[in-house]
Amino acid sequence: MPNKNSHAGHTPIRTCVVCKKKVDQKGLLNFYIMTEGIVFDLQRVLPVRKYYLCPTQDCFVGLDAWRKRYQKRIARQKA
Ligand SMILES: [Zn+2]
Repeated sequence: MPNKNSHAGHTPIRTCVVCKKKVDQKGLLNFYIMTEGIVFDLQRVLPVRKYYLCPTQDCFVGLDAWRKRYQKRIARQKA
């Protein structure tokens, strides 16, 4: 039984936007979307909606397609 009162060793799990794999947050790259494009948040300080990506070539390649879909979705929401 895990000790529910202890947060020691707790790491948030995040989902890669491209492959949808659930990974420990530390194992993923952190980025957000600006109008100019994707910005990687290396300092992890900005209080904006963040997205996560595996640091693998496959996911980098898929990121461009994901961003296009994302921006289409946003454009629809604003319309
Ligand atoms: Zn991935």
